[in-house]
Amino acid sequence: MKTGLPVEIDPIQLADQGARLIGELPGAAFSRLRQECAAPLDPVRLDLAFVRGADGLRKMAGTASVECELICQRCLEPMIMRLEAVFQTVFYRMPEDHQQGEATSDEMDSIIVEGPVRLSGLVEDELLLAVPMMPMHDKKTCSATRYLAEDAPANGTSLDRQNPFAVLDVLKAKDDQ
Ligand SMILES: [Zn+2]
Repeated sequence: MKTGLPVEIDPIQLADQGARLIGELPGAAFSRLRQECAAPLDPVRLDLAFVRGADGLRKMAGTASVECELICQRCLEPMIMRLEAVFQTVFYRMPEDHQQGEATSDEMDSIIVEGPVRLSGLVEDELLLAVPMMPMHDKKTCSATRYLAEDAPANGTSLDRQNPFAVLDVLKAKDDQ
């Protein structure tokens, strides 16, 4: 696979070089994110720029994104969702440097790195935060709301004939909300 992305990086070194990393990492590298998703994870797309600012701070800015299969908590059917994480990060080599830089980096995350780190580890936390607590289809496309809106029969028989458990599923999905 020609992803061109290294498994491990040294963010401090990359910032000093002014490097930019664009490419994909295999979904298998994201074990925690895979646990959140219903299907094997697609490759995660990265676009990360590393710079050393005029203030001497080593920074990373960019995005990571992946399409992830989640389970809709209303109808309990799969749904595809695009997860995107945006990065504004400052890297410090030593905790002491961090103290000095704190005042200038209020809006940025700061990470202390002593050496090379796994690139997937660097972005996985933020992607996990992008996973919704209660993933749900749009109301217009969710099959649970279709049942409720169109198929709920006045006499209560047509649903039973199709699938006697459909009513239970709809009720369960409502309870979960
Ligand atoms: Zn749904």
